[in-house]
Amino acid sequence: MTRLLIVGPQGSGKGTQGVRIAEAFGIPAISTGDVFRAAVKDGSDLGEQVKAIIEAGDLVPDELTSAVVRDRLAQADAEGGFLLDGYPRNIVQVMHLDEFLEGRDEQLDAVIELVVPRDESIERIARRAAEQGRSDDTEEVIANRLAIYERETAPILDVYRTRTIVDQIDGVGSLDEITERIVAALEARGLVRDAVV
Ligand code: AMP
Repeated sequence: MTRLLIVGPQGSGKGTQGVRIAEAFGIPAISTGDVFRAAVKDGSDLGEQVKAIIEAGDLVPDELTSAVVRDRLAQADAEGGFLLDGYPRNIVQVMHLDEFLEGRDEQLDAVIELVVPRDESIERIARRAAEQGRSDDTEEVIANRLAIYERETAPILDVYRTRTIVDQIDGVGSLDEITERIVAALEARGLVRDAVV
């Protein structure tokens, strides 16, 4: 039973590392960004609601986002644990998640904070923009998303720090090196992985 959260600015590699860590611990990686992008692609009701917001790099309303996450966490594969990527993203969402987990008599075991210098994350976002052509990877939208991260998301780490569950991980290096750093930090907390990555 491992319940994790990975936090980092855009371009920190949290999506990639999140998937790797989830695999190592045998838990689903749940990325709200991926859920929203899939909904937009499918043209579902949810997609219609969030399309313009995502394209502007703004945050989807908290109630809607938290409802999406609650639905996802209620699925059978998240019973044995999960890794959240991109949620919670502000203090209100932290409160929503706390409430949900308390209702299940659960709590987060660890919060992985991926630390990457601003220049490096901007470079990585630019590379991803060239490779994947994400509509929210334009210069103006990137600046907005980074500003929102600093203003709204970084403060959630202070909340989790008071609970002593934050592991700060240097996010510069090869993919494997970074994965190893994260796994080592989680193992030091007594969390047990079930696959070799
Ligand atoms: P990401 O891939 O995590 O950068 O998310 C892409 C976009 O989805 C963000 O820029 C937001 O518009 C939206 N989004 C993802 N997660 C959240 C969240 N927890 N709260 C609000 N909006 C979100």
